[in-house]
Amino acid sequence: MNPFRTKNDQLTLLVVHAHPDDESISTGGVLSKYSANGVRTVITYCTRGEAGDILNPDFVFPKPGMSITDIRAIELEKAVKVLDVKSVHFLGYRDSGMAGTPENHHPQAFARADQQEAIARLAEIIRRVRPHVIVTYNERGTYLHPDHIMANRVTLRAFHAAGDRGYHVGPKLAPWQPTKLYYTAIPLERIRRMHKILVERGEEPGFDPEVLGTPEDRISAIIDVRKFLSRKLEALNCHQSQMNPNSIFRRMPEKLRMEAMGYENFECVHGCALTNGRETDLFEGLHGST
Ligand SMILES: [Zn+2]
Repeated sequence: MNPFRTKNDQLTLLVVHAHPDDESISTGGVLSKYSANGVRTVITYCTRGEAGDILNPDFVFPKPGMSITDIRAIELEKAVKVLDVKSVHFLGYRDSGMAGTPENHHPQAFARADQQEAIARLAEIIRRVRPHVIVTYNERGTYLHPDHIMANRVTLRAFHAAGDRGYHVGPKLAPWQPTKLYYTAIPLERIRRMHKILVERGEEPGFDPEVLGTPEDRISAIIDVRKFLSRKLEALNCHQSQMNPNSIFRRMPEKLRMEAMGYENFECVHGCALTNGRETDLFEGLHGST
């Protein structure tokens, strides 16, 4: 089956992520919700998470001698199956690692890739997949990870390039202009509250809420994914090697965790006509338009 084929011009959601496991953390709810609601869901990964570490001290290698890339490929395959994602594509770059690490200088590192080339690769995928809605990270890459920042830059430009008749890329493909572009968002007030709780408990939060958070007035869509929470958690759980016992998720009080995970927040940066306040559906205004 051609993974790019559109069945009856079905509504399509394309999520652009930097690494395996990002899909479950910030978009696991919308991916499983929209998959269940008949939307075609597609993920493009910029890298395969080659610079990741085994963050779970209890992780057992499925087979001796496996590389982190092999492990993450298996984990990704399981997670996208749980989320019922229809197809997965790769831009073909290498994980750049956290800022300031030697991995930043690898010749294939995504963060130092030729931006025009990366835009062309993604624009080609957009023209083939023909998504109506695209989701990626904000300009801070959520938490300043170099690959997430690059994913934002490349996606923003590819979003417009794909629809530009004058933009030529590889094979002859018809231009396709997606309608809406969203950035994932963490409500600033919530993350400040979380930070305060950790400080009061005497813990070192290890994050800056002012970087991570998006001010409430910039959050334009709040999607209720509570019904899909178990699937989101199951998908997260597929990334066993990345299960860090000290992660924010693990340390969050249960009530806050449910509040944080049961709703996914987005900032609309293109194509939203907000007339009645916040959207509760990323496809608002698009149903019946295909
Ligand atoms: Zn990531």
